[in-house]
Amino acid sequence: MRVGLPIARVRSAPPPVSFRNRLTLFFVLIVLVPMISLAVVLFGLISDNEVGKADENLAARYEVATNLYRQATADAKNAVRDREDQYTRLAAAFRDGDVRAARARARALARRESIARIVLVREGEAVVEVGDSEAIAPAFFGLEEPDGTALDGELQVSVLRADPFSRRVRRLAGVEVVVRSRGRVLGTSPSLKGEVDDEPLPEVGDADDVEIDGVEYRTVSFDAPGFAGRRVQVSVLAPKQATTAAVEQARIVAAAILLGFFALAFAFALAVSRSLAQQVAGLLDAARRLGRGDFSTRVPTAGRDEFAALGEEFNKMSDQLEQRLAELGRERERVQSSVRRLGQAVGSNLDRDALLKIVLTSALEGVDARAGRVTIRPSRRAPIEEAVRVGSLRGLEGVVREAEAQVLGGSAIGEVTRDGASALAHPLKEGDEEHRRVNGVVSVARVGEPFSAADRELFQYLSSQASVSIENVDLHKTVAREAVTDPLTGLSNRRGFRERLALEVERSRRFGGQLGLAMGDIDDFKAVNDTHGHPLGDTVLCEVARIIRESSREIDEPARPGGEEFPVVLPGTDLEGAYRLAERMRKGIEDLAVDQPDGNGPVHVTASFGVASLPENSADLEGLVAAADAALYEAKRAGKNRTIRAKLGS
Ligand code: GH3
Ligand code: MG
Ligand code: MG
Repeated sequence: MRVGLPIARVRSAPPPVSFRNRLTLFFVLIVLVPMISLAVVLFGLISDNEVGKADENLAARYEVATNLYRQATADAKNAVRDREDQYTRLAAAFRDGDVRAARARARALARRESIARIVLVREGEAVVEVGDSEAIAPAFFGLEEPDGTALDGELQVSVLRADPFSRRVRRLAGVEVVVRSRGRVLGTSPSLKGEVDDEPLPEVGDADDVEIDGVEYRTVSFDAPGFAGRRVQVSVLAPKQATTAAVEQARIVAAAILLGFFALAFAFALAVSRSLAQQVAGLLDAARRLGRGDFSTRVPTAGRDEFAALGEEFNKMSDQLEQRLAELGRERERVQSSVRRLGQAVGSNLDRDALLKIVLTSALEGVDARAGRVTIRPSRRAPIEEAVRVGSLRGLEGVVREAEAQVLGGSAIGEVTRDGASALAHPLKEGDEEHRRVNGVVSVARVGEPFSAADRELFQYLSSQASVSIENVDLHKTVAREAVTDPLTGLSNRRGFRERLALEVERSRRFGGQLGLAMGDIDDFKAVNDTHGHPLGDTVLCEVARIIRESSREIDEPARPGGEEFPVVLPGTDLEGAYRLAERMRKGIEDLAVDQPDGNGPVHVTASFGVASLPENSADLEGLVAAADAALYEAKRAGKNRTIRAKLGS
């Protein structure tokens, strides 16, 4: 039974091929593959070369065998010549058809001399055969009639047998030998005796391989004439062991060289790949650091390759980025300081000098000047004097003064450049469109480049803003003053009175000083209005206010919060001091004579006063006012035109 288990196959994205792996692959392609091909070719060549050498060697030994064979044939020829008469008689007997006599003679010859075999042939047939059938290398002699005409017959004589021939070749050339004829083994060298009877040996021709009794030989054969037209094949065999060993050795050497080369190439490739990987890693690291905003470390740029060039470009880029960032930083600082100045301008509460300083600082920064100042004419006829200065004007005073003089002389802009120092000046003007007056000068100066057209334009703009600012400040002051002033008498109004009183109460509370308050009110004023008219009432109010102002000290604050009431704030004054001051005012009013416009004689008024003080009568503002009011009420009740002190502890 087969149970199928569900197998979850998790497929993950293949990891990206790293730079190093790519280099390794590249190395394998350009080194390993050609090296394998080279090894195959080289081993083939070694093998072929060794076989060639072995064949050459074999050929030399083969020469020895053929020479020995030829020598044996020559020896047979000489043996016959040595016994020429006897062979002539043998030939004569055979020619005459006496085969028996011929055989007897041949036997006798073979026995007596060292003859291996004698054969007589007629019309291709061996008629007489004497001696050893293993004999080889025969010499051939043609037979002829007594008159010299040729017979169809031949005498064949050999002095050598196959075994001794093989032994001799073995001894002289060091190769094994097999001699065959018509498939029969005639003789062999001793070590092959009995081994090759069944072995098929290669035919005559090129060298070939053969295995005999487990031993491999390289063999080559030749073909030589034998008895009665039969051919003889002689094979020489050299064992292949030596050859194989030589080839093995050559292969080992070649393999060692190839391996060495491979190791070298591998080591080199590894070193190159590591150094490349390191350089790439260095660049990568630098890029990451740049990304984090770290410009401190440099990319190494040793050498003159593309990596060094890349590194240099990297460093340049880093420098530029750093510069840009620094510029941005400076720009930000400028924006911040502008915003700060704007804040100061808003917060300066329209203080003239603070505003002028802000304008001047902006102008300095805007035109990149080192220092500057603003000079103002304090009053219409006074000479101008320095109001604000920013930066050090040392060494620049000359050009600044000259530029200022140009402006005061009527120029729309003053500009002086001398000895590497430059100054710009612009007038501050006041008054309406038709009556503009120069009441001050803004000037900036620097050492180095003269100011550009753009600098001049910005400076002029900022300076005109300064003029507007000063006018705004003056306007603001007027409005602020009007907000706390009674328009009829010029004394403080209710708001001014309450503010000043609160300020003095707070001051006395904090520093422990005394504070007096005199509350004055014109007696029967309604009647003045009713009798002489409202306009005269107003004149009386103004005159009374003048008396009260003239009778009070510089630090006092007389006010007219409304109607015909005149409270006077008296800082640093106790109850008794307040009484004396109120009495002085009351008497002044009593002595006042206000002329009527119609000439009907002067009008006289009187006033009553209630006085109180901190901390004698009260501990706080409302208490103080109430005490003074109560005292005033007392004065009215007691018959008017008098001053009454508030009761102690009231
Ligand atoms: P008392 O002695 O009790 O103070 O009597 P009085 O008439 O001075 O007081 P009352 O409060 O009855 O009258 C004040 C008058 O002051 C009424 C009003 O017409 C007049 N008055 C108030 N303000 C002005 C002003 O601005 N100009 C003029 N001409 N008269 C004013
Ligand atoms: Mg009144
Ligand atoms: Mg009154």
